[in-house]
Formats: sequence, C-alpha cells, structure tokens
Amino acid sequence: MIPIRKGKQLDFMRAAGGLARDILLKTAKEIRPGVTTGEIDAYAADLMRETGCKSAFLGYRGFPGHICISVNEEVVHGIGGPRPIAYGDIIKIDIGIVKDGWVGDNAVTIPVGEIRPEVHHLLWATEESLHVAIDHARDGIMLGDLSHSVEATVVPFGYSVVRQFVGHGVGRKLHEEPQVPNFGRKGTKPRLKAGMILAIEPMVNLGTASVKILGDDWTVITADRKASAHFEHTVLVTDDEPEILTWRERTMTAGDLAAPDSRVRA
Ligand code: MG
Repeated sequence: MIPIRKGKQLDFMRAAGGLARDILLKTAKEIRPGVTTGEIDAYAADLMRETGCKSAFLGYRGFPGHICISVNEEVVHGIGGPRPIAYGDIIKIDIGIVKDGWVGDNAVTIPVGEIRPEVHHLLWATEESLHVAIDHARDGIMLGDLSHSVEATVVPFGYSVVRQFVGHGVGRKLHEEPQVPNFGRKGTKPRLKAGMILAIEPMVNLGTASVKILGDDWTVITADRKASAHFEHTVLVTDDEPEILTWRERTMTAGDLAAPDSRVRA
C-alpha cells in the first residue's frame, strides 16, 4: 500500500522537507577545495543537532555517516572521511533528516570551481530530468510515465541512467512504497494519487549505466569511473501543481550550458 498523507501529516512533512532543504543548502556552502568530506559530514551533523532533528541515514542498515557525500565517479552512498575536496571535483551531498517522526530527503551535485564542460552539461541535464519528472507528480498520472520521463530527458545526450538504485516513497520511514525508478515504460502502474509523497532522485552517468560497490560496502561508483550526477527532491503528489517539499532554486542554469552538440542524438 502506498500511503496517502493528508491534513496535519502534510504539515509535518512540509516542516521535515523544509529543514532537510535548509541543512542541504547550508552544508553545500561549506564545500570548497581543501575541506575534507568528513568535515562536511560533521558540519551537517552539527546543523542537525542545532535544529533538533536526526540523520535519517546514520545507522540505516549500519550506514556510518550523517549524510551521503560522493565525489566525481562516486554515484551515491559515499561516506565522509579524510579525502580533501579538490578544485574541479563534483560533490554530491544527499541529506535525509527525521523531524518529529517524519522524513525529508534531498540531494544536489555541487561543482567545485570550474569543471569540464561535458560534466557541467551532465549536471544540468540531470537537474533538468528531476524537474521534468516532478512535473508528472500529479493525481491520475501513471508512475511509469514519471519514471520514463527521466530516461527520455537524458538518454538523447548519450548519458545513462543508473538502474540498480531508485527513488522511493518517503514519510514515516526513509523508504516507503512505491519504488521510483529513473527508467520505465509509459503506462505502467501504479497510478499516482494526491497525497502520495515521493523522493524522486535521478542518478545519471556520463558513460556506462553499470555501477560497482567499493570495499566499504556502501560507496557506489560508475564501472567506467566516469562522472555521475545526482539530484533529489521530496515531492507531494497533488491534483494540481506538484508540491516540492524540499524546494530550492535550481543550481545549474541553462545560461551556464555548454552543450556537447555532437552527442545530441535526439
Ligand atoms: Mg532518497
């Protein structure tokens, strides 16, 4: 059963989403060359303590970090540690928090200084695919249509979508029904209903879709070690405009776009 949230439950989810967003944005500002990924994790942990919430990830199946922090070819589930952030890196931070028993979950990919044009375009396309998918979070739309829209946005650029990891329902728990893949067939069930809350999170690779898991049993990397991008929002399905519970300004603007035209096959 996919939970349908209403009334006071939505107020709690709006609060959790807003807090997850605030912590994400503040943490993102600390990302700069020389700072270690462990220091970024510790900074986010301090913010969680100060704002009276808890990490939704720490201890989840034994996960050791307060946030997920993944660098360059790392896709998701990276663990903060002694690695210093370098100029030209892309840093993915995924922050999930529990506030008053309700979960907010969101992620962003941050370029550190100037990055290669094709990587910049990958980031833009991934954030774009998130918003294309969000536009499908409306009562009556098939989940397969939402999932398909992610793939349909990025594949024409030659990018690939990670298949082993998917988005999810979110609410009382970090992972609820349904699974929200970033690929799929149009018309596939379930049909979305107002009050469902989805964590929509495209994970898009510059090269192959294949991924591997490192020896720490958590960090997911691309099999070809090429760059990967990840953007996520917690979204309430409505019978009108979708409501982004972790809303923030988009970070990758079309004005920065350096489209690799030769790769466009659409
Ligand atoms: Mg998530």
